[in-house]
Amino acid sequence: MTGPPAPRRLARWDHPFDTGMTEGDVDRLLALPLFADMEADRFPRNIPLRGILRNDARKVRYQPGEIVIREGDYGTSAFVILGGGVRVILKSQTRFAPGRTERRRVSFLKSLVSPFLGRPTPEARDFRPASERTGLMTRGVGTETRVYVPDVTGLIERSETVPLAEAGDLFGEMAALGRTDRSATVVAETELELLEIRHPGLRDLRKYDARFGAQVDSLYRDRSLVTRLKATPIFSHLADEELAVVAKAAEWHSHGRFDWDVDLKKRGALDWDERLSDEPIVLLQGDYVNGVTVIANGFGRVSRSFGNSEHTLEYLGRGRVFGLEEFTHHWRTGEPEPHGTTLRALGYLETLFVPSDLVEKYVLGPDRSRPRAKPSLIPSASSAEKGRGRGRSRLPVLPNVVLEGLVDERVHIGGAAMVIDMDRCTRCDDCVQACSDAHDGNPRFLRSGPRIGPLMVASACMHCVDPVCMIGCPTAAISRDKATGNILIDDNTCVGCGTCASSCPWDNIRMVEIRDTAGEVIRDLEMHEPIRKATKCDLCIDEWGGPACQRACPHDALVRLDLSQGPERLAQWLDR
Ligand code: SF4
Ligand code: SF4
Repeated sequence: MTGPPAPRRLARWDHPFDTGMTEGDVDRLLALPLFADMEADRFPRNIPLRGILRNDARKVRYQPGEIVIREGDYGTSAFVILGGGVRVILKSQTRFAPGRTERRRVSFLKSLVSPFLGRPTPEARDFRPASERTGLMTRGVGTETRVYVPDVTGLIERSETVPLAEAGDLFGEMAALGRTDRSATVVAETELELLEIRHPGLRDLRKYDARFGAQVDSLYRDRSLVTRLKATPIFSHLADEELAVVAKAAEWHSHGRFDWDVDLKKRGALDWDERLSDEPIVLLQGDYVNGVTVIANGFGRVSRSFGNSEHTLEYLGRGRVFGLEEFTHHWRTGEPEPHGTTLRALGYLETLFVPSDLVEKYVLGPDRSRPRAKPSLIPSASSAEKGRGRGRSRLPVLPNVVLEGLVDERVHIGGAAMVIDMDRCTRCDDCVQACSDAHDGNPRFLRSGPRIGPLMVASACMHCVDPVCMIGCPTAAISRDKATGNILIDDNTCVGCGTCASSCPWDNIRMVEIRDTAGEVIRDLEMHEPIRKATKCDLCIDEWGGPACQRACPHDALVRLDLSQGPERLAQWLDR
């Protein structure tokens, strides 16, 4: 019996970054000083240097005033200057990055009278050109929509900027490698030609060319290590020159898959032990302690084995430190203390390892009774022996099944997860109705989602710390709002492609057909197809009083919680 041919497994370069790149382009790139010195034979045969440049890179041109990257946007590529100059805007005069529409709260009076005004048309939009509302312009370049600043000279004069104009200068690597938002806006000052390298190519160039790797690492070190260490409470007391010494000696490591959301979709088929063993081990219980490990990016699971089973004790996010209890115990008593727990990467994790001598010198200091860091940050004498202090806490503790569930479903990354206590919820749907009322008759969430012990994490955007929905957005219409930290979709620049909706691992984005104020579906001119936009929970950013769902629940069964900071607030809420 013959059936349909088996589908071929997709290969890495089946979808090049730019199908227009030619062998001639690759030859010209290889003649540039940045690539000319690379030793092509150091690259594996299945990932040749030429292949990376042909498939993971593309040449892009910008006109003066066009924004290359915007502060707060999510980025997965870095840029090399081929010709022209850019300005890095360190401090803009405006609170909002160029090209991003400011969301305004409705007036207090309007919020009072709106219930009496009758229901407006669902999903109605003011579809005047965005330039009329923002003062900025957009233009189409190929399939891209570019935002540009008509008066780039004025923007530069009004802002604190750094010029980059050397051919071969690299920028954007921090967000591309660190999976963080862009730390600054970069605008074309003159006509500009850039080589944009997407993350897998950047990773491999860094891996197989030691000189390029060292250059990128040193940029990363210079631009981000000090910032990250400074944001870590136990190092925040250090002077700039001391931080520079610690940053120089710190070792940066990454663990797990950058695109961890792909793994998440496959995890359903695995049992608990397989899921745990799928998480890369960073440090193992019983390992020798020779420094501390700072979580620079992402999350780590801390667990301890009890006989044949392993229990999650906590999860650590950015700025938290692993190994300090054991290290402090050793410092106080002189007795070596091995790691009492295991640290694993939850998805993608970046760590900074700070060796013993620097921790002793800059965090603890010579006086054993008076550490240099804030005393409240230093574990007490007995905490290492008593199980990292957890046994003595007076705070409520999250039931283990809930803690394991949060981590297993990866909802611990939610900055504003909608948690429903199913023992209190009467299924009245007042929360859904309130959401609908706050969003022109169209609720932005579903009262369903993963069940974790007595809780449900509803299908509402969680405003994640690591928002994978942003990665593929072609117009950067999804971004993190600088003022509130919420993940917002800019209706003006959303082109309705649906990439974000398929990227969100929890299906928390819906694509809707938009209408004019008369209720008619808006169709595009060419194909007469309905125009769609991505919508999701916006935490009622336009409303006074915070999310309507939480305010509406008559049974105190629903809360919006930042789970990324640890489980303590959820434990307190459950204990109310
Ligand atoms: S849409 Fe999904 S991935 Fe994006 S922030 Fe919301 S919950 Fe996270
Ligand atoms: S549908 Fe989503 S990914 Fe596509 S442009 Fe809109 S916000 Fe971006």
